[in-house]
Amino acid sequence: MSTNQDLFERSQRVIPGGVNSPVRAFRAVGGTPRFIKKGEGAYIIDAEGKRYIDYIGSWGPMILGHGHPAVLEAVLSAAREGFSFGAPTERELELAEEILKLVPSMEQVRLVSSGTEATMSAIRLARGATGRSKFIKFEGCYHGHTDALLVKAGSGLATFGNPTSAGVPAEVAQHTLVLEYNNVAQLEEAFALHGKELACVIIEPIAGNMNFVRASLPFMTKLRELCTQYGALLVFDEVMTGFRVALGSAQAHYAQLIPGFKPDMSVFGKVIGGGMPLAAFGASRDIMAHLAPLGGVYQAGTLSGNPVATACGLATLREIQKPGFFEALSAKTQKLVAGLKAVADANGVPFSVDSQGGMFGFFLMPELPQNYTTVMTTDKERFNRFFHGMLDARLPGTGAVRSRFVSAAHSDAHIETTLAAARVALR
Ligand SMILES: *Cc1c(COP(=O)(O)O)cnc(C)c1O
Repeated sequence: MSTNQDLFERSQRVIPGGVNSPVRAFRAVGGTPRFIKKGEGAYIIDAEGKRYIDYIGSWGPMILGHGHPAVLEAVLSAAREGFSFGAPTERELELAEEILKLVPSMEQVRLVSSGTEATMSAIRLARGATGRSKFIKFEGCYHGHTDALLVKAGSGLATFGNPTSAGVPAEVAQHTLVLEYNNVAQLEEAFALHGKELACVIIEPIAGNMNFVRASLPFMTKLRELCTQYGALLVFDEVMTGFRVALGSAQAHYAQLIPGFKPDMSVFGKVIGGGMPLAAFGASRDIMAHLAPLGGVYQAGTLSGNPVATACGLATLREIQKPGFFEALSAKTQKLVAGLKAVADANGVPFSVDSQGGMFGFFLMPELPQNYTTVMTTDKERFNRFFHGMLDARLPGTGAVRSRFVSAAHSDAHIETTLAAARVALR
């Protein structure tokens, strides 16, 4: 039997850093990544045969846990009919109808294969539809690895961004304005300076890529107002939050709190594929009419709307619509976070937690941070000790700056086991 260490050493010879996506490399938390052989309900099992209760869920998609029978059956039966045709199928149309039924802010949707591809296409569409080039993103939000989105703030609001990755030309970053999350004054100032040149503003409504930071209501309300006033499109990147924080996604949550609220364009991924490569972006019929073959904004994909991936997504979306699904998922998640908070308090560890639906985050600090600068003040050394304490107890979570996920396969017993391990680790 190969150990995780053996596999990691072998892998590093043939794959840069031994991984096909950098967060898997354990660089932030230290140690050897676990090579996963199999998933089973709430568990993942590594190459050494160790079982872990999984709070990563493939970074979000596995909302039903691993190997859900109805989803597995749908995938197997679709695979028997063929893997890919390069022609339209009824199943992709069914998935589109299902998504639109759950997300009424969109009238049409296009399916793609990854979140990165979906946000990239959404930005191109926003630019094509408005005839403008510039856009705003917020520090700490991740929208995939498209060139124009791998950008950090320039010096001051008058200057646009700088690349955060080698290989991104400065010219490409010059249309991206990066602002602080939840900073209403800065948002107003930026719109006053550049509002008429902005194609769109892209935001993670609940930022899972800086652990768990909610856009405040005053901030979201002002953002919506300014976008409408200046004719910039509000793009909700719901790749992580979509069908995860609520059946109608984060936008349904904000619509409950801000009457009449809706984004102009939305991007989905992760849960809509149920673990298969599938993502989507959508908007009103008018905006979507700018896309090829109807309009001049080009966008395409050999595997877009793939028959096996759409079968997986469709079966997943059908399961999460069953009565009481989100109530049960939320209740379990809340039980877990309340339990963690109680354990931390009992041990005098500064701790703050938040959750929505099946997504949660916690910080080893007394109050929930509101922006990336504060998130980054977290005690990483202390976090990593906690992380490895939990990992030794077979409970992988994610690094200090990513959300965690509970699935329908997690039971009260799994949560009790987790809290028992947290009692030891936090002590
Ligand atoms: C994961 C993620 C993406 C990128 O999706 P990929 O499928 O990894 O390309 C984009 N936006 C958000 C909010 C994400 O969480």
